[in-house]
Amino acid sequence: MRKLTKNQCAVFEYLRERPNVKTSPTEIGNIVGGGRLMKGSGNTLILRHSSWASPICKALVAKGLIRRTNKGQYYYYECECPACSGMDEF
Ligand SMILES: [Zn+2]
Repeated sequence: MRKLTKNQCAVFEYLRERPNVKTSPTEIGNIVGGGRLMKGSGNTLILRHSSWASPICKALVAKGLIRRTNKGQYYYYECECPACSGMDEF
């Protein structure tokens, strides 16, 4: 796998922990990127949001690590069929 940046890795880990949960870039930006505040106009502090997460998510899609819905949400795909769910030992 091609190496991920620190931010790409953080976003990927976040989505991978919640397989198949469709997540907006706004939510990803607030939760994954929200630990650090950015200086907004007029000296107000704003949380990072979709503009932070979108390019990171797009890069992860390009690497084939996550998927994007037609509504612009992102998720880590995990098959839920019995054969894949790990319920049976083979
Ligand atoms: Zn399956």
